[in-house]
Amino acid sequence: MERLEKIYEGKAKIIYKTSDPDLVVQYFKDDASAFNGAKKGTIVDKGVMNNHISSRIFQFLANEGIETHFVETLNDREMLVKKLDIIPVEVVLRNVAAGSLTKRLGIEEGTVLRNPVLEFFYKSDPLGDPMINECHIETFGWATKKEMKVLKSEGLKINSLLIEFFKARNIRLVDFKLEFGRHKGGVLLGDEISPDGCRLWHWDTGEKMDKDRFRFNLGSVEEKYQKVYDLIFLPSNG
Ligand code: ADP
Ligand code: UDP
Repeated sequence: MERLEKIYEGKAKIIYKTSDPDLVVQYFKDDASAFNGAKKGTIVDKGVMNNHISSRIFQFLANEGIETHFVETLNDREMLVKKLDIIPVEVVLRNVAAGSLTKRLGIEEGTVLRNPVLEFFYKSDPLGDPMINECHIETFGWATKKEMKVLKSEGLKINSLLIEFFKARNIRLVDFKLEFGRHKGGVLLGDEISPDGCRLWHWDTGEKMDKDRFRFNLGSVEEKYQKVYDLIFLPSNG
């Protein structure tokens, strides 16, 4: 499927039209940003790694019965997906305390959470993606009660599946962000699942292998993204 004109360019990806109004191409860039766009940079070949990592994870989820926007990997940087009407709510799942949770609640980084914690954030660059609750979502019409039920149940299901997916590859899934969208009367998982939007720690060493390396200038950013790629695509893990 050939890509046509650009519909949207975001911080990490570009969305292109195709000849089929139901399908769009998701192009993965090497651009990296953090702290609501305040920090910008490039992670060499991030787009290639994130495209392949996301494709693999979407295929895994489809095999486990989770409906996603993924149709097929087109090439190193492009994925064909179903066009969604994106719900402006980021669904964050946490298994280990890190990032904003540690700051907001004073919980020590690395604390294993007794239960997965699900949080909602309003997807708004000008507002810096503030944390919101179900009452805000319903009041301001960002999603219906029925849609929220799907976000919660699918979010928790995806978390359980991905914990095991990563564990089998010696990776601890600390936390991650999901985006969902409306499609033909239903709600599907969209966007990407990659080290840009997940915290992934090596199971044995605890080394960080995700965007925190870029956020906090930890060095070896490309090497650690590559490490995630390798752990996912080792011949035995394919
Ligand atoms: P941002 O918009 O936050 O800068 P990206 O650079 O990742 O993020 O841009 C990709 C955009 O495409 C995001 O806004 C995301 O919500 C949107 N998107 C993801 N999947 C789909 C889809 N299947 N259909 C339409 N839009 C999508
Ligand atoms: N996250 C994301 N995009 C966002 C906000 C968060 O991908 O706009 C991911 C982030 O990479 C982490 C998880 O969601 O894996 C939880 O992020 P957190 O709330 O801790 O925010 P942070 O401190 O990373 O900004």
